[in-house]
Amino acid sequence: MTTTTTSQSDMMPIRVAIVGGGIAGLMFAIALTHSSDSKATSIHLYEAASKFTETGAGIGMFRRPWQVMKRLNLVDLVKGMTNVPDPEEDLHLAFKVTKSDEPTSKEHLEVFIPFGNVTLHRVEFQTALAHYLEQKAITTHFNKRLLDYAVQEDGSILLNFKDGSTEICDVLIGADGIHSATRHTMIKLATEEAQAAGNDELVKQLTRPGVKDPVWSGTACYRCVFPAEKLRELNPNHGTLTAPINYIGKDRHIVCFPVSRGTMINFVGFVSHPDKEGTIWEGKTVEQRTHEDLVAAYQGWEPEVEQLVKCIDAPSMWTINTLKALPICSLGPITVIGDAAHAMTPHQGSGAGQAIEDAYVLAALLTHPSMTREKIPQALKIYEKVRLPHANEIQRKSRENGKLYEFVPSEEYPHLSAGAKTADPDQLVKEIVDVAKEHWQWAWTTDVETEKEEAIRLLEEGLKA
Ligand SMILES: Cc1cc2nc3c(=O)[nH]c(=O)nc-3n(C[C@H](O)[C@H](O)[C@H](O)COP(=O)(O)OP(=O)(O)OC[C@H]3O[C@@H](n4cnc5c(N)ncnc54)[C@H](O)[C@@H]3O)c2cc1C
Repeated sequence: MTTTTTSQSDMMPIRVAIVGGGIAGLMFAIALTHSSDSKATSIHLYEAASKFTETGAGIGMFRRPWQVMKRLNLVDLVKGMTNVPDPEEDLHLAFKVTKSDEPTSKEHLEVFIPFGNVTLHRVEFQTALAHYLEQKAITTHFNKRLLDYAVQEDGSILLNFKDGSTEICDVLIGADGIHSATRHTMIKLATEEAQAAGNDELVKQLTRPGVKDPVWSGTACYRCVFPAEKLRELNPNHGTLTAPINYIGKDRHIVCFPVSRGTMINFVGFVSHPDKEGTIWEGKTVEQRTHEDLVAAYQGWEPEVEQLVKCIDAPSMWTINTLKALPICSLGPITVIGDAAHAMTPHQGSGAGQAIEDAYVLAALLTHPSMTREKIPQALKIYEKVRLPHANEIQRKSRENGKLYEFVPSEEYPHLSAGAKTADPDQLVKEIVDVAKEHWQWAWTTDVETEKEEAIRLLEEGLKA
């Protein structure tokens, strides 16, 4: 960030606070340091945990976030962990889909898309990002859980942490995940402001369930990563050994893919209660489950599923909570990115991808040569205008894809909920995949660079006015 005016406050570095060191926080820190003048900013990252942590599961990345990885020169960082499609523009196998909730195997429908996708082991990915950041001018603070914040009279932000300490910053980026304390305070303050201004419509939107606090999607998932060798011993021709596969069925489906260059298998087995969508989950969000629980969940499914289940001793069970589309994600000099802004179901494999895109666009605005402390609220509103509608739309489409994969009746596609009753399972899968692909094509036919350019255009236009 460079400054163009010479007032005393502008001579001081802009104090950036990033709260949360998941993929969103780390990628934002990397994007910010990629092009900024480190003398003009002081960047502090506050993480609640005692170190950067990720659970041992896999993550898929489509073409759009991959373009960001390239533009931030991060490809070499992950090249050793995965097979990068080559040439990228060609059609590559992204995943296969098969109807699996019966004892006999059905045809595997192959889905080819430009670039395909890249699959990464989360721990490897996040560790690499964290190591990369060590070379950058960023101060990281662990064991710092943000409780809330307050904007002070001089415009600076007071951060209150659980350990009783406080810090001051000029811009606060909440990358603190689905239960974001940043979002919580922001929505509370925005609601108070809207009430004071008599803006009833905004008050209504801000107080809807799923805006300040998340709601349950009605789905939970068994998660596990296990050695591919185990599966190979059971079935050397198992489809999951070579490609991502989506095994679909009534009210549940399984997504599996190889990670760590094919040495490990990532297993995610969804189990849904569609009638519970939008309720509040009262229990723990992550729990240990037994092999027997998993066997019961997929009883009577096809042999490939049976073999996968045999490889898993003690899966963890994750409740999938989500946000509803937020009406705002910036307020004054505070904004939220990643799951803090648009936590979604994982049925487009794009939550982290959206976090990466947020980080890229927001960092481009904040590192604009004309950026000053006073212009930060304007830049954050532009980020909201450009990014939030897109991410909210992906959130909606992801939910729709989840319904399609589990034959949940929807008004739009009533014929695709035939499920077990269908006379032609292969045709049903084909129709489901056609609709899912239509929902998904933004991930390989569009480029976040367009959003970045639009954001910069709006900023420069605003500066002229
Ligand atoms: C089963 C499953 C499969 C998925 N698969 C994919 C996929 O294939 N592709 C994809 O793109 N996405 C996928 N996602 C989504 C993806 O995992 C998330 O969107 C992404 O990890 C969100 O990153 P984040 O940094 O925003 O949040 P988080 O990963 O939740 O990170 C938040 C960080 O903030 C810290 N924190 C929280 N509160 C505070 C506080 N008050 N103060 C300080 N620090 C705090 C936390 O400790 C954590 O480090 C999947 C999700 C699930 C559940």
